Amino acid sequence: MKPVSIIGGGLAGLTLGIGLRQRGVPVTIVEAGKFPRHRVCGEFISGRGLETLGRLGLRDLIERAGAVEARTAAFFNCHASSGTRNLPASALCISRFVLDDLLAREFRRLGGDWREGERWREKDFGEGVVRASGRRAHATENGCKWFGVKAHARDVSLSADLEMHVSPDGYVGLCRLAGGEVNVCGLFRQSVGSAASGAPLTPSLSPSDGERVADRPGEGNSHNHRLGTPHGLRLMFRQEANSPLRERLSAACFDETSICSVAGLSLQPRHAVERDECCIGDAVTMIPPVTGNGMSMAFESAEVAVEPLLAWSRSKTSWVETQLSIAKNCDAAFKRRLAWARWLQALVLSPACQSPLVWLAARSDFFWRFWFARTR
Ligand SMILES: Cc1cc2nc3c(=O)[nH]c(=O)nc-3n(C[C@H](O)[C@H](O)[C@H](O)COP(=O)(O)OP(=O)(O)OC[C@H]3O[C@@H](n4cnc5c(N)ncnc54)[C@H](O)[C@@H]3O)c2cc1C
Repeated sequence: MKPVSIIGGGLAGLTLGIGLRQRGVPVTIVEAGKFPRHRVCGEFISGRGLETLGRLGLRDLIERAGAVEARTAAFFNCHASSGTRNLPASALCISRFVLDDLLAREFRRLGGDWREGERWREKDFGEGVVRASGRRAHATENGCKWFGVKAHARDVSLSADLEMHVSPDGYVGLCRLAGGEVNVCGLFRQSVGSAASGAPLTPSLSPSDGERVADRPGEGNSHNHRLGTPHGLRLMFRQEANSPLRERLSAACFDETSICSVAGLSLQPRHAVERDECCIGDAVTMIPPVTGNGMSMAFESAEVAVEPLLAWSRSKTSWVETQLSIAKNCDAAFKRRLAWARWLQALVLSPACQSPLVWLAARSDFFWRFWFARTR
């Protein structure tokens, strides 16, 4: 069988690697980072990707590693709440520090060749090479810089398994993790003008994959000095006085080792068939995080790629056919949800729509079911 190389050992790369090893294909994963490591992510897995995990025999593994089932959600703006609502389908919440490492171990257990701490520097991703290297950095998009921040915290009491707090500059999700910890993860935008004038706390764009553990005090640039501390995080997540988010985080005890940030996100949907390389996961396109569906898309796109790559490995198809088949399957699976997710993100970030959205979320089960189904 011909070997497959996967660039990037995040969720998409590892899931593909596991799926191929289960079918006996020789696989190498080249991963730039050192595991275990934190990743900017709301750590809330929902949608069809859960079924993918079940089919690959990974769901049990994840549940045994402490994934917490999420059944309820609540939606807030600075002044109002939807109240606690049942999610149309339950989700799983698990730390990426645990999840990615668990999948890497499973890949190695299945005989995969795992090359950690190695960065792929070739421009070309030739025959037999799959790009799973995650989101592509874009300094600005439509006059805005987008950036994300994550930390784990204790002493945060929630009214639902997942809380979503929106403000005109972004949104912050809070979800319960194992051991009494809560994931606090925000996506923010900053207009390019205000960024240039030195507005506080924008993480700088890393030259590598755009993500890192925020600098400890005393390292890096001044913005990150502040971001890498609990005080900096509180400033980042600040909202108006008496807002529910401020109240939630007032006594929060942040785990400083979990603080990480990413800048230069692109939230424009892209089609896989437009990409030059064979891509899966965020390397194809990133879905707005408000949907909590990016991890699911990483798992699903990996599953979609397994059979075409198996056929290529057995010399039954050409590389061009393989790449095209994966790209078409990804586009068919994700095109509709990407379009709806774009709408949802625009509504959630529009100050004029936030109060009506909270009002609707408080009153209408149809509203929850509609958006949940359309973005998954
Ligand atoms: C703020 C925010 C909140 C989010 N919240 C959620 C959520 O609650 N639920 C959800 O489902 N999704 C969420 N997501 C999205 C989710 O994190 C991603 O969709 C998911 O991680 C994509 O997986 P991936 O494997 O494609 O990429 P990644 O997980 O990013 O993995 C890519 C890997 O490639 C490696 N790499 C990069 N370049 C190279 C190179 N040149 N050589 C070797 N290795 C390389 C990186 O080190 C990394 O390990 C969120 C995203 C953001 C930004």
